[in-house]
Order: sequence, then C-alpha cells, then structure tokens
Amino acid sequence: MSDIPTITTEVFVAYSQCPRKAFLLLFAENKGTPHDYSVILGKRRQRNRDQYLEKFLQEYPEARQYDPKSFKKHTFLIEVTLSSEPLEASCSVLTKTDPEVTSRRITYEPTIVTGTYSIASDQKTELLFIGSVLGKIQKQEPTVGRIVGIDGKTHRVQLESNYKSIKQSLKILKKWCSETPTEPPTLILNKHCSSCQFQEICRKQAEKDNSLSLLARMTPKEIKKYNKRGIFTIQQLSYLFKPRRKRKKRKNPEPVKHNLALQALAIREKKIYIQELPDLNRQPVDLFLDIE
Ligand code: SF4
Repeated sequence: MSDIPTITTEVFVAYSQCPRKAFLLLFAENKGTPHDYSVILGKRRQRNRDQYLEKFLQEYPEARQYDPKSFKKHTFLIEVTLSSEPLEASCSVLTKTDPEVTSRRITYEPTIVTGTYSIASDQKTELLFIGSVLGKIQKQEPTVGRIVGIDGKTHRVQLESNYKSIKQSLKILKKWCSETPTEPPTLILNKHCSSCQFQEICRKQAEKDNSLSLLARMTPKEIKKYNKRGIFTIQQLSYLFKPRRKRKKRKNPEPVKHNLALQALAIREKKIYIQELPDLNRQPVDLFLDIE
C-alpha cells in the first residue's frame, strides 16, 4: 500500500478556500469539528443525490455502476470514483459524448449533484477537479460538466478554458504529497474560517501567536507587506502607529482610512482611540424640542 496521501475532491476544494485547510486535511491527526451548516448541506446533498440517481435509473435503465474495467463500454456510468494516483475524485454520473455532435473522439463528461439551489464557485471548482482527474484516465479532458441543483435543474458548466487555472494548485498539492512538509502554510484567518472544521484550532493558534490576521480588515496582502518589514504580531504592529500631524482644514477633506496600527495600539493598551474627530456641521439652531 502506498504511503502517499490522496488528493481528494474535498482536499482540492479546501485548497481553493484556504491552503492551510488542505494541508490540515492531508496531514493533521486532528481533523477538527465539522460546522453544523456543512453537516446540513452534506445531508441535503446525499438525499438529493439518492433521489436523482433513482429517477435517473428509471429513465436510463441501461446505466451501469462505474467499474474501471468496463470503462467506455456503457453510455451512462453512475456512482463513479475516479482514481489516478495521487488524485481521487467522485461524481454521480459519467455520460458518454457523441463524437458526431462534439466532433472529438468519444469521451465522458461528469455530472455532480448538489444540495443547493444556486451554483457556488466551490461546486464549479469541484467539477473542474473531477474533469481534470477524468482527463488523466481517458487521456482527454472533458470540455463541459453538469451540476444538478436541489430543484432538479441541470446547469451546464464550461470546463475547457478553466483547466489552466487549477494547474498551479495541483502542482503544489502533489509536491506536498511527495515531500510531506513539516510546517503548514502561514495561518491567515479569512472569510471561510467561520464555516471551517479547523476554526477552533486555528483561532487558538492565532491568539497564541498574537497573529496579525486577528485584526479585522487585515488582508493577506497587508500581512505579507508587514512580514517583509519584520512585523509578525499585533504587539509589534502597535509600535508603528504615528499620530498624524494637524493639517489646515481643507475644503474637501480626504476620507479617513482605517488605520491597522492604531487598531493594534488600541488592543495593546486596551483603550478606545478616535482616529479623527468628526466635523460637526453647526446650524443656527442646534437643538429642536417638540413638546406637547
Ligand atoms: S480555520 Fe481558517 S485559517 Fe484555519 S484552516 Fe480553516 S479556513 Fe484556514
């Protein structure tokens, strides 16, 4: 048995959300606690997939269970698990193309079934990954794939022009699998954290490190910029704050920008700072009371 970890669809989609999540899924012993929302979506997806396949088999009784040995013999293959080491992807249906329509040699196109009404970018990423693994097996990447929503609607997704966009991520993930890096990617809290299974672990780590990414409005780009200057913690950042010199009042003053260093200083000193006092527009009548 090979010791190389498998890059599954879950790992690949996780990499597009946060590289650290993909790393933890591949190598960490503690796989965190799945978020309730993800659990609900997973159950809905499973139910929708079962119902879809039941109807599909009634409509196409000739559909067969996927088997790598009988690949290319049947028009429809269901409950598919594609494997091309170290990649593994699953989809609900593979549909054989008609070479007369596509003017290409016979290939299969993947269909996935989801538990949502609208199609999210994660689901497109998932389909792209499946297309890429399928491409390795049938020696030609499928040009399109299909996503079936919870309402039964089938959405056709163009894949051909997007394979390039996932090449770099695949390359990094394969490198991880062959070299097993000891350190995970830098911890950068992001918008996906609130629904991530590693939320608690990462939050604790960020607090322990006094990480810059704990600051609201801190972006990965800003973190990189500060890291280059040797600033890695909120404590260090707080010493960068310089109060602005008072300028003459302008007719059209520039809008006040959020100051990360001041935010860090406020946290360090546990005080509230006002970056700039608001200009109050004084009127001849300041207070108006209407009493009956
Ligand atoms: S909690 Fe956030 S930083 Fe940690 S792995 Fe998940 S998405 Fe990445």
